[in-house]
Amino acid sequence: YVAKETRSGVATYSVYRDHNSADRLTLLGELRQALDDDLLTLQYQPKVSLRDSTLMGVEALVRWQHPQRGFVPPDEFIPLAERSGSMHLLTDRVVMLALAQIAQWRTQGFSVPVAVNVSLTDLLGDRLGDLVSSGLRQHALPPGMLQLEITERVVAQGSEGLNAGLRRLDAMGVTLSLDDFGTGYSSLLRLQSLPVDELKIDRVFVSKLSEGPAAIGIVRAIVDLAHALGMPAIAEGVETEAEWLALRDLGCDGAQGWYIQAPMTAGQATEWLRARSFQAPLPTSLSEPAE
Ligand code: C2E
Ligand code: MG
Ligand code: MG
Ligand code: MG
Repeated sequence: YVAKETRSGVATYSVYRDHNSADRLTLLGELRQALDDDLLTLQYQPKVSLRDSTLMGVEALVRWQHPQRGFVPPDEFIPLAERSGSMHLLTDRVVMLALAQIAQWRTQGFSVPVAVNVSLTDLLGDRLGDLVSSGLRQHALPPGMLQLEITERVVAQGSEGLNAGLRRLDAMGVTLSLDDFGTGYSSLLRLQSLPVDELKIDRVFVSKLSEGPAAIGIVRAIVDLAHALGMPAIAEGVETEAEWLALRDLGCDGAQGWYIQAPMTAGQATEWLRARSFQAPLPTSLSEPAE
């Protein structure tokens, strides 16, 4: 296998450099083993209000620390799980970990909605709905504490099975969030008919904000579209104060990104929640009141 260097200097495995399909098969076997051995963990990244910096929830992001290969990014193994028919095993694991974390935070006095990313196959059939419904009951959680993020690319496909899956989850009271918005190809008609509750603006649009009026206009149009559909807009991948301020001025509702907080382990996230509940909501640069 090939290791590449990340900014942090940590070796990262890349399957895309692995042209040998035998190696891919090995990785898949190792992923199945990692699921069996419970080696996947979650990190949590806050979504905060752009108006007053209050916490809106956290997104759970799956992590695989491979004993030999090092950190394998989700963009490498999620597609592998999807193609090989083992996605449901991963999603089951992630949903159960997220629900247990919501329950644990509640016992510690923190009421934090947690968002989990799901893929197309999860939404077809009854498996995810059954799991969510029994998991919520098992932990005695209000359904609104769980959010599910679905990429726009996935919902654009719009099969009857997918629509039924989304309707069932919506009817259960789970919050649905449209992820990576602006990079899929959903029609406006499709958007209007979707039972989604939140729209997440893809990071590519946020990172172009400094490029000028056209890029700003696109983000404004997305925010206005979300509001026209009765949903809040959350910007992803906010890395700078300039982006934060521009988004706030455009009327965007929430933000997520390294400028606010990078993804954290469960332990770090608990400390983060504790520190915030006893101190100012966020560093002052983040909590100036809007004009
Ligand atoms: P996503 O759902 O759009 O998640 C946001 C990604 O942006 C995460 O990458 C996060 O770590 C990263 N990020 C957060 N803030 C910043 C920032 O300020 N700048 C930049 N450049 N990046 C930022 P990550 O964790 O590598 O996940 C990548 C994708 O993998 C996710 O994109 C999601 O589609 C998928 N994914 C992650 N966890 C799961 C999971 O449990 N299940 C499924 N089905 N997909 C998952
Ligand atoms: Mg997401
Ligand atoms: Mg709903
Ligand atoms: Mg996204």
